Amino acid sequence: MTAAITQQPHSGEPWLDDLAQEQDEYFHSGATQPYPFRLDQLRRLKAAIAANEDRILEALRTDLRKPAFEAFIAEVGFLYAEINHTIKHLDGWMKPRRVGTPLQLMPSRSAIYSEPRGRVLIIGTWNYPFQLIMAPRVGAIAAGNVAVLKPSELAPATASVLSDLIGKTFPRKYVAVVEGGVQTSQALLARRWDYIFFTGGGHVGRAVARAAAEHLTPITLELGGKSPCIVEGDADLDLAARRIVWGKFLNAGQTCVAPDYLLVHRSVRDQLLRRMADRIRTVYGDDPAASPDYARIITERHFDRLAGLLPGANIVTGGRMNRADRYIEPTIVEGVALDHPAMADEIFGPILPVFAYDSLDEALHIIRQRPNPLALYLFTRSRSTEEKVIRTVPFGGGCINDTMMHLSNPDLPFGGRGGSGMGAYHGRHSFDTFSHHKSVVRSAGWLDPKLRYQPYAGKLSLIKRFFR
Ligand code: NAD
Repeated sequence: MTAAITQQPHSGEPWLDDLAQEQDEYFHSGATQPYPFRLDQLRRLKAAIAANEDRILEALRTDLRKPAFEAFIAEVGFLYAEINHTIKHLDGWMKPRRVGTPLQLMPSRSAIYSEPRGRVLIIGTWNYPFQLIMAPRVGAIAAGNVAVLKPSELAPATASVLSDLIGKTFPRKYVAVVEGGVQTSQALLARRWDYIFFTGGGHVGRAVARAAAEHLTPITLELGGKSPCIVEGDADLDLAARRIVWGKFLNAGQTCVAPDYLLVHRSVRDQLLRRMADRIRTVYGDDPAASPDYARIITERHFDRLAGLLPGANIVTGGRMNRADRYIEPTIVEGVALDHPAMADEIFGPILPVFAYDSLDEALHIIRQRPNPLALYLFTRSRSTEEKVIRTVPFGGGCINDTMMHLSNPDLPFGGRGGSGMGAYHGRHSFDTFSHHKSVVRSAGWLDPKLRYQPYAGKLSLIKRFFR
């Protein structure tokens, strides 16, 4: 039987319960736990992705007009790196970790065992529709779990390839793809899971948290938010222009960690904006609509939302759009008030509002007034400015003198805080996310002082010495 399931469920449908029972039984058989099994599944996943690489890139082009280069680096290539890293380190991650043991527990030894959580639900969104389902899946395999994957209905071509690939590679008792929209997601969330891993917007994230609370299911929420980019007066402006334009307009700005708005020191505002406008022309040409390297907005609804952010803003560069093609030109705007709709929610598209500031504290004040961002970027040559921003502003993760590249280091945990999410993954952090850490004290019986046992008369003053 294949794992791909396209039937539309609702919460009353019994077949989801049958699937849960099948997966539970398979998980409790212990089959997913041995190291050779996990290693083999990771290799099979990598081989299946490699065998379907062209189809995946084509599906991403269909859904988002995603350039093959961007689809490769941020989805397929990203996964190869994640799988390779996991294969290389899995043996070590799985080993029980010895930790110290305090004197009062002697003679004994202490260790932390990683055990799989069990049956996990992974719900993804549409902007990196392949990677955002598969990268958590790598962690779920590594940690020995069974899983149901729910890709986004807004990227249907990718969801279909993903479903086919998983269906032909794994039995559904081990991993099943359930395709569908909001109702499907709700039907899945109404059931009990051992872990839920959700990527998407904060509004749905809250619904996921509420559903999880019903069963006390632990969760990871990978959400979004308004990620600021600060350019200080001492920054390398050519470098900043190149890297901000790259990070903002990759995937037409539909990236959770894209710079959402720009804060630039007034002394370099004119120079930076000129360089950025030049850079946009250099990389996309005079008419970005004709560039093979520029993606499209996912749906007309999102196009309308983005187009609705422009009234009331002064366009510095860009601004052309075509609804039929879901095209919005790389656009930089100014003159936006801090309570303008463009500063209310994450933009998630190719529009970049710019604010000039006179002191760094002014910029940091703007950031701190908003929910904790998923990412923060700072361009500066000053180590003390770096330290000040890193140590005083809460954010998920970020870069100094770059944008978005912190995601490509599998040794770094990726996740938000507060409004941008909870929990983290990638590399070892994925393994830890999908594992329960079980603490075990192995006690020796040959020495068994009477001190801790009842009756306690006369022992209190003695026991106090151990705690001081
Ligand atoms: P979304 O939150 O609307 O949808 C995500 C998933 O949730 C889909 O599979 C969808 O079917 C399901 N869903 C939608 N409504 C639901 C409901 N009421 N109940 C249950 N499930 C429901 O996706 P979106 O908001 O369009 O995605 C964009 C957001 O995702 C942005 O905020 C972006 O920053 C964020 N994001 C975060 C990351 C990250 O890794 N932190 C990555 C990509 C995107």
